[in-house]
Amino acid sequence: MKTFTELNLIEPLQRAIAGENYKTPTPIQSQTIPVALKRRDVLGCAQTGTGKTAAFALPILNRLGLQNRSAKAKRPFALVLAPTRELAVQIGASFATYGKHLKLRHALVYGGVSQTSQVRSLQRGAHIVIATPGRLLDLMNQGFIQLDKLEVFVLDEADRMLDMGFMPDIKRIIRELPAKRQSLFFSATMAPAIVEITDTLLVDPVKVDVTPKTRSVKKIKQQVIFVSRKGKSDLLQKILSSRDNLRAIVFTKTKRSANFVAERLNKAGLKAAAIHGNKSQNARQRALDAFRNQFVKILVATDVAARGIDIEGVTHVVNFDLPMEPEAYVHRIGRTGRAGAKGIAISFCSSGDQGDLKSIEKLIDHEIPVNQELSVNLPSSGPKSTRGRTGRKSSGGARSGTSQGERSRKGAGSRRARDESAGNEKGKRTTKRRRRRVRTEKASAVKSARTGESSRMGAGESSSRESGKGTAGGKRVASGTGATKSGAKRRRPQRKGKNARKRANASRGE
Ligand code: AMP
Repeated sequence: MKTFTELNLIEPLQRAIAGENYKTPTPIQSQTIPVALKRRDVLGCAQTGTGKTAAFALPILNRLGLQNRSAKAKRPFALVLAPTRELAVQIGASFATYGKHLKLRHALVYGGVSQTSQVRSLQRGAHIVIATPGRLLDLMNQGFIQLDKLEVFVLDEADRMLDMGFMPDIKRIIRELPAKRQSLFFSATMAPAIVEITDTLLVDPVKVDVTPKTRSVKKIKQQVIFVSRKGKSDLLQKILSSRDNLRAIVFTKTKRSANFVAERLNKAGLKAAAIHGNKSQNARQRALDAFRNQFVKILVATDVAARGIDIEGVTHVVNFDLPMEPEAYVHRIGRTGRAGAKGIAISFCSSGDQGDLKSIEKLIDHEIPVNQELSVNLPSSGPKSTRGRTGRKSSGGARSGTSQGERSRKGAGSRRARDESAGNEKGKRTTKRRRRRVRTEKASAVKSARTGESSRMGAGESSSRESGKGTAGGKRVASGTGATKSGAKRRRPQRKGKNARKRANASRGE
């Protein structure tokens, strides 16, 4: 399939596509659109940035455009479920763009804002509803939306839904769908829980897989910088202030640190906006718009808030904190290097983060090059560490990090050097603590294995879920295990006290 003309889309869609200057369909589009037009179910394995929105939006618009019916109050003909409000808004914008020459209406349904105007558009009648699961269920329960006339159902970013703990909601929604329908299903990965849901949702689906062979995008220049925790802010300012034509997304682990980082950047004269789950929907949208329109050059975000955001021309992704789940690294760095452009992904790694770095490198199947010029020595990561002082195996002088002597030559009184020597003292103390923790973790791993607590239970229901209210609708309760994909490895023993609570919150991305 070479051109959009060969896809046999109706003329108003062809015109809209031409208006967008799309020349050729992307692989997910050329494989999905023809079969979706024939009303087959589709099981698509694809990430954001592959053009998958048009892959499902165009067949839906084509089908509804041909029928030329007026919309029915509360009863949409097509429903798209997305994991986040931002993605729902983005999908809505795509429907508006592709459907601009058609007389079809779409309504957006997501939480964090008043339901009044959403209810009004549903009552007026919308052909297509784009929703996040929580608010959709709320409105269904209140009788403002019924799915009995539904003809097409799309589940987008199913793996994110799973990560965010939406599966029970999704299953409830699926139960309300008419048996006779077309279902289009998209996910970047195919975890067992995802496969399970495809079995109940799809009938004889056409499988489309456009997952890149290498996990992380080749066009993205990746590097890691070893830096003390205290040195991160200064390093970030240094990196970002020295770049022209900058458009950067900085990822932090917690909402508090997102605010802190944005504040520090603004104080340093670098215009930045923060986006995370504690901000109102309007504040998040304002920050996104400011970044999109280049009023601010830097967006500081937590993982969940940034999910699905598609902004062109992002030059840099900086992992101020490494993600705890390696998969998130791939998603994060994928925000740059879009549409064939080049991008740079810089990851800060502090003492104690080496394990996370190792997991990421294992997933992407290569070692991320170290920026030796900006890296400092870190206390070694454990008593038996065979790694260099930066936590990396040395591969020749250049990679093994600077020696104490070299560091002195760079300036004995430098702030970084002071940080690090303080870090080394700290290192001795933390080693003892770490040994104790490993012992407790091993014991708790054995215990969970005995109680039959599956590692899948914990997978993804922890860090990627923000504040327990990642859904559109009301508050959600974060999974209590605090475990991650690596199962017991990250599980901490239950501790009481303020610090323990803080640590637990941080590990959930709060
Ligand atoms: P998506 O994966 O749907 O989020 O799309 C990623 C980006 O690719 C969006 O900015 C789309 O506007 C753009 N896009 C989608 N399809 C095409 C196409 N066939 N040609 C050029 N750009 C496209």
